[in-house]
Amino acid sequence: MLRLRDTLTRQVREVEPRQPPHLRMYSCGPTVYRSVHIGNLRTYLLADWIKRIARSQGWQVFHVKNITDVGHMRQEMAERGGDKVIAAALAAGRTPREIAAEFEEEFHLAESLLGIEPADVFPRATDHVPQMIALIERLRERGLAYEVDGTVYFDTAAQPSYGSLSGNSLEQLQRAAGAEPDPAKRHPADFTLWRQAEPGRQLMVWDSPFGRGYPGWHIECSAMSMAYLGEELDLHTGGVDNIFPHHEDELAQSEGATGKPFVRHWVHGQHLLADGVKMAKSQGNVYTLQDLMERGFDPLAFRYLCATVRYGTRLNFTLASLAAAQRGLQRLRQLAAHGGGAADGARVERLQEEVQKALEDNLDLPRALALVWEFARAKELSGATRRAGLVGADHWLGLGLDHPSLGAPHPGEWRELANAREEERRQRDYPEADAARASLIGLGVVPEDGSAGSTYRAASALDRRHGLISSPLAIPDQRGEPDLVEVSVSIVSSGYPDDLVRCVRSLQRHRSRHSVEILAVDNDAPEVGVILNELAREDPSIRPFHADHQLGEAAARNVTLRAARGSVVLILDTGVEATGDCFTPLLEALRDPLAGAVGRWGAVSRDMREFDDSESVEVDAIDGYCLAFARRRLQEVGLLDERFRFYRMLDFHYSLTLRSFGLSQRRIPELPVVMHRHRGWEDTDPDERERLSRLNFRRFFEHWHHRPDLLLAMDPSASTHS
Ligand code: AMP
Ligand code: ZN
Repeated sequence: MLRLRDTLTRQVREVEPRQPPHLRMYSCGPTVYRSVHIGNLRTYLLADWIKRIARSQGWQVFHVKNITDVGHMRQEMAERGGDKVIAAALAAGRTPREIAAEFEEEFHLAESLLGIEPADVFPRATDHVPQMIALIERLRERGLAYEVDGTVYFDTAAQPSYGSLSGNSLEQLQRAAGAEPDPAKRHPADFTLWRQAEPGRQLMVWDSPFGRGYPGWHIECSAMSMAYLGEELDLHTGGVDNIFPHHEDELAQSEGATGKPFVRHWVHGQHLLADGVKMAKSQGNVYTLQDLMERGFDPLAFRYLCATVRYGTRLNFTLASLAAAQRGLQRLRQLAAHGGGAADGARVERLQEEVQKALEDNLDLPRALALVWEFARAKELSGATRRAGLVGADHWLGLGLDHPSLGAPHPGEWRELANAREEERRQRDYPEADAARASLIGLGVVPEDGSAGSTYRAASALDRRHGLISSPLAIPDQRGEPDLVEVSVSIVSSGYPDDLVRCVRSLQRHRSRHSVEILAVDNDAPEVGVILNELAREDPSIRPFHADHQLGEAAARNVTLRAARGSVVLILDTGVEATGDCFTPLLEALRDPLAGAVGRWGAVSRDMREFDDSESVEVDAIDGYCLAFARRRLQEVGLLDERFRFYRMLDFHYSLTLRSFGLSQRRIPELPVVMHRHRGWEDTDPDERERLSRLNFRRFFEHWHHRPDLLLAMDPSASTHS
């Protein structure tokens, strides 16, 4: 008996197809104006696992997964920043259809690399506009839709059950709509079924009884599921972000049009996160399967990783956890590879039963994996039994357990390098030998040096990753440890090695009698990493950190803040150059027990919205290009808020945090530093940086708008200080 959590009843319930043995299943598929990311793929894996266990119930699964190639393209533009791809492609003379075809292809490839069985039908929205129009007509006939100027809306107030899936009520939605609801709508929760084409729109427009236009997003899933599965579905899947509004609206439309229950079982998968927030293009934290493969991972290692947590639990993705998953997978494959002796059929069957039971229990994949591991490790089993058990369980897991493990390295090209390295070792030229070692690993060969000489084996993705960090948590937290030096400088570099070198050299030149350590993060920029290691080799006060992916600004800074051992921390942008001893004035200024942040540049605000550069000493916020504070503050007020993935407003956020602890922010106008071009900013696409800035600003404003009292402008005593 298969039990899954049903979102509508909020219960783990038995799945009961309406007409067994047929199971009619629908999954919301990809939007093909951009690459699918591994978050999307987690949701598609959920559907795949459900299908596999459903078949074990003796059911014949008929599965439909739509391809969204029109509809929320506009929503996309407004919310997700995906429009540049379209714009660029259109500029290159390509049609939306061609662009969609390309991403659709990529999606199918990703699914197949993950061992996801193809759906029976992949209907495209653009091929089903007539069905959508017919459905909208039906809704109008039933008084559930109304038209305003060629745009048709669903009338949520006319559908009493509206909100039952997501648990939203119309009153709540009314309140949430805020100040600027669409005036054409009767209720803010009403959603677009058909939108009138804006003047000049040539592409992706259709004639309809309501005029020229194009369908809204939600209607496609209702129309296409009905076209292929009939009016009542057994099971509908998606990610939790689909629950509202997408599935709520699908439900309202479908039941509104047919008067029949639409879906017997709604299953939603929790999100894949990265750096603690939902993986989404708009967050700038997406990985595609291709990205993982370029880093040397087996795609099925991602499948394994997803199987280690239950589908109703968020999964924070890191490359380090993926590496662990790959190790586990590799090991299971090795254990499955050796098949000697006689197979014990009863033991194999018992494992099958146990794994099936675990999966029937709301898809308990972690339990299934644990059973498989226990079996794989059982000493008393013959090789043949072990192999039969693992390969059998893999019909459900889909991990490719009977694949051979890594192949042997390519002979030839690496041999020369290996010989050179051995020679360098004999000459005791270790830096060169180390460099050769890294190159060899890059070629897929790992040297292992023993007393009898060196041997070589095939590299796995793990070898390449040795020593890289996935998150600040990889760095032991030293905040409570005593000071070892006067100043810890924090530098983060995601490119521009020249800037990094200029910045570091200037600090070395001017540190004079001060004890200074420089903590520098190579933020997934290999060219920076190489130079950083060189700098560190000649100057032991430089401590390099190498990130395995691009960390957000706050997280990257926190790497250094956790490791710092100076009495003072100085955050510097690599665009900054010291022109004299900047350490003495900073140390001096921070001797004041009420000093929060100090630095060269600062800003003031009257309303928390606009911040203006200020020439005064006392300011509301110190600019992050050059910002110093006493390290003990990190214990009092905490590390940086890692939801700030972009640098803007992060400095002001931290300044105000210090202010809220009663500490002042002061500029040191004579501080001998200059700021060169800020290349990271200049080279970021204007739309993109605008978007990232806005995201950070929103975060900042939500946090501080109710604390105008923290601003100098609001504090009558403040003006006397400066
Ligand atoms: P979209 O292309 O945005 O419509 O998303 C396709 C599917 O992926 C939907 O079912 C989403 O719910 C799901 N999805 C989107 N982002 C994530 C994520 N970070 N983790 C898991 N599923 C996701
Ligand atoms: Zn859908």
